[in-house]
Amino acid sequence: MTTETTPQQYTFQAEIRQLLQLLSHSLYQNREITIRELISNASDALDKYRYQMLTQGQQVEGELRITIEPDKEQRVLVIRDNGIGMTQQELIANLGTIARSGSLEFLKQAKGRDDQQADLSLIGQFGVGFYSSFMLADRVEVLSRTASDSAGWRWESTGDGNFSISPVEESLERGTSIRLHLKEGMDEFTEPVRLKYIIRKYSTFVPHSIYLDGEHVNDQPPIWLEPKSNVTEEQYQSFYEYLTHFPGQKPIWHLHLAADSPFQFHSILYCPDANLERMGFGRTDHGLHLCARRILVQNDNRDLLPDYLRFLRGIVDSADLPLNVSREALQDNTVFRKMQKVITRKVLDHLDTLAEEQAETYERFYREFGVILREGVTNNDGNRDRVAALLRFGSTTSTGTSTLVSLNTYCDRLREGQEQIYYACGTDQNAVLRDPNLEVFRKRNLEVLLLTDPADEYVLSALGTFRDKAIVSIDAADLKLPPETETAEQAKEDEAAKSPESSARLDTLIGLIRESLGEQVQDVRRSERLTESVCCLVNSEGSMSTTMQRILRMNAPDFEMRRMVLELNPQAPLVQRLADLAVNTDNHAFIRECGRQMHANAMIQAGLAPDGNEMAARLQEFMLQLASQKSALAL
Ligand code: ADP
Repeated sequence: MTTETTPQQYTFQAEIRQLLQLLSHSLYQNREITIRELISNASDALDKYRYQMLTQGQQVEGELRITIEPDKEQRVLVIRDNGIGMTQQELIANLGTIARSGSLEFLKQAKGRDDQQADLSLIGQFGVGFYSSFMLADRVEVLSRTASDSAGWRWESTGDGNFSISPVEESLERGTSIRLHLKEGMDEFTEPVRLKYIIRKYSTFVPHSIYLDGEHVNDQPPIWLEPKSNVTEEQYQSFYEYLTHFPGQKPIWHLHLAADSPFQFHSILYCPDANLERMGFGRTDHGLHLCARRILVQNDNRDLLPDYLRFLRGIVDSADLPLNVSREALQDNTVFRKMQKVITRKVLDHLDTLAEEQAETYERFYREFGVILREGVTNNDGNRDRVAALLRFGSTTSTGTSTLVSLNTYCDRLREGQEQIYYACGTDQNAVLRDPNLEVFRKRNLEVLLLTDPADEYVLSALGTFRDKAIVSIDAADLKLPPETETAEQAKEDEAAKSPESSARLDTLIGLIRESLGEQVQDVRRSERLTESVCCLVNSEGSMSTTMQRILRMNAPDFEMRRMVLELNPQAPLVQRLADLAVNTDNHAFIRECGRQMHANAMIQAGLAPDGNEMAARLQEFMLQLASQKSALAL
């Protein structure tokens, strides 16, 4: 024997050893997915071969096909393709180290469990590719030859820590054959009827012909090219499962598009039923399958849809797209760029219709994907206003029911003279509803949007205006309320509070408190928004709401909060009494202390922490004063 024919031994990367250990010893039932994974690899290899030929200006040789060859007697199943093939180096690199992030992710999840029998049910979704072979086989041979090599190579492993590579003497067809030497009890995988069932279930939409015993198994026409009326719900569903590997999950909605001019394309887009990003799976952008005349150009195109629609899954097939361009060049392609615009517009049209005609479904969709969709407000693709109209918020007018409110609904029921859209922000709805700043809105029955997610506030401030109405936080200094239509009683009360003498007394009080607080506040002034509370803190013009600032500070401790404005309610008995006392200079020291305590109270109500020691000392001093006025005599 020459040294060339002696198999070279190699050791798998540590992660693969762990993965193989899990896979070969698992009792996981759904072994069918191995067939799906191997067919999908074969299909990729065919796409790569065709792409290589096209870019080199050469002819594709022979029909590109995937062949499934069961051998009952030998208990062997072969999955063969005449695709790109692998060189010796590629065999070592591709089938000796983990290429796909899915496998690593799966391994992380499976290893996180301490029970002996790892939960492999996630395997189908992550997809562990080639290595899933070891769920069916105790020995796997891979024979492969690339178009430019005259001889091929054999890769072989029994799924323990090692694999070997040796040259193949006999002539090999171009491409790759995976020979699975089936484990005991895996005979079903040599049954043609069973195999046909599996291929139809998982691989119907694979864009290359799959042959089993000479029969073309996936011979259905691609449903995206069919008129909508010809496609059944089951077909839409099974195509969704093929694209996502989520068996049994129903998309919230789907959209089937077809156009002929100015360019031709067909597309089916699906909105999944759950937002995995919200469940902590990290950013989900799988991208769309992009085809040119049924031929897959890219299976994870992320440029066709804007970021804020990245949750959609689906396929786009156009006869006007070039087959042999690189990903980068595709983005500069005119048809591609126009297609981006059209598809985005169609999706937004669909969402408008859904919101109008199936409000409940829209709300379900929004609760899942609103957090991604709202990013569209800051995307400058010209659809900002359309996305703004699709946003939904909680509102003081609809609390108690689950119905979210759109900015359009809000604007449709604006009060006469109302120039602004009001929102309140807090960590949860109860906290927002306790905000003293809300009092005047409640009293005057003005609708306020209730935000419990700081990102919503960010989106609204990015938007700035909607239908020419400024969007403002209820604790903003530049808040404008519509002119009041007062009752006679209120008018009398207000008059009394505003009489020249009382006004002068209030000014003295405000002056004293301003002086005592010094740099701690930006200003002290009379409030137009309070009806019950004594005082509150509001934000100076143009600054973020308190909630937003608080969150920024939590994340960046050196973030400096803006100085705020302390507002006093002229109708509050305490304020009126203090104003009366202010005429006597003997009381000024006491009033200054009261001012400091009012400020501390307002801070607590706004979720901020005043100086605890100082406050405790002051309150004890107040208590002492009060206590001194009580009698110790038991009469
Ligand atoms: P993935 O397919 O996600 O990359 P796999 O572990 O299934 O992960 O495969 C690893 C690599 O092996 C592939 O990226 C590909 O380069 C190569 N490969 C697998 N199957 C084939 C095949 N049938 N023909 C050519 N190359 C293949």
